[in-house]
Amino acid sequence: RIKKKQTICRTDIDRLNVPFLAIYESLIPSEEEKAKQRQLLTLLEKLVSKEWPKAQLYLYGSCANSFGVSKSDVDVCLAIEDADMDKSEVILKLADILQSDNLQNVQALTRARVPIVKLMDPVTGISCDICINNVLAVVNTKLLRDYAQIDERLRQLAFIVKHWAKSRGVNETYQGTLSSYAYVLMCIHFLQQRRPAVLPCLQEMETTYSVTVEEVKCAYFDQVEKLGDFGNHNRETIAQLVWGFFNYWAYCHDYTKSVVSVRTGSILSKQEKDWTRRIGNDRHLICIEDPFEISHDLGRVVDKYSIKVLREEFERAAHIMQYDPNPCGTLFKRY
Ligand code: ATP
Ligand code: MG
Repeated sequence: RIKKKQTICRTDIDRLNVPFLAIYESLIPSEEEKAKQRQLLTLLEKLVSKEWPKAQLYLYGSCANSFGVSKSDVDVCLAIEDADMDKSEVILKLADILQSDNLQNVQALTRARVPIVKLMDPVTGISCDICINNVLAVVNTKLLRDYAQIDERLRQLAFIVKHWAKSRGVNETYQGTLSSYAYVLMCIHFLQQRRPAVLPCLQEMETTYSVTVEEVKCAYFDQVEKLGDFGNHNRETIAQLVWGFFNYWAYCHDYTKSVVSVRTGSILSKQEKDWTRRIGNDRHLICIEDPFEISHDLGRVVDKYSIKVLREEFERAAHIMQYDPNPCGTLFKRY
């Protein structure tokens, strides 16, 4: 079902730069909100260190990867080396400690796929999820943050795509659509394959940062300040890139054969990944390789119903960008 690529007149599309940038600006969290997040982290550090003096708390997810819009939840990882306790015990203990310190709605979710403690801080009004020893998420958070520093168009594009996905109801992994993390990887891939490229492939460059987490070696070039002008050869505007992104996922991606891989900065085949058939609940109907856990397909949550929903939404967005007289209004219309 690969359709012919559409083209567009650049001056036409460029009238959307101003409204897109206005949406982007309106979604950026304020300094005040960032300060409140840090304040909450400091409080949590104080409480946790009483019980576990050697434990560390790390922010991860959108409050630390620079793709967080205003009013996002804060994701925190508790790194703890306590060999005698399993994760559920730590979760219950942690919930206990936090409960007794005036935090509200403290819930221990020990049976979730990733066990967490959920809470709300009544002082700042911020909601927070705390997981245990999910260090790979801390490392992929750094990778995303480093990519965001290379070219500001990545952050602009990802904010608009995430805003679109939330408005259209296609950012719900429990309903078979994609996570925010998956959408950001789709944006990075898209900017890597643009010609000229807007983003390099950091994992194919000289290693300047390397850690091994749960037997996974994570290595890449992280001195991104040295790449400041990488994207300058590509002069595309944000409106052209948003148009290109939806066009790519509507008409240019080969859903039957291709795997998107930020790790290699290219497309891999489902064949070589052995992602050609359904195994258990993993269906591989849209394939997005995790940059570090390379056996992990972020599209595995997508099922035969939700793939249709997703593809129709990409086509709807591409169609609006091409023909609608007021795309900014229609694109983000609530589902
Ligand atoms: P939002 O603004 O929607 O909260 P987010 O960036 O926090 O966006 P989530 O999808 O909630 O995105 O994921 C939080 C973090 O957890 C991600 O940034 C990533 O580090 C990690 N993560 C999420 N899903 C996966 C996954 N399937 N595999 C590996 N890491 C993941
Ligand atoms: Mg989050």
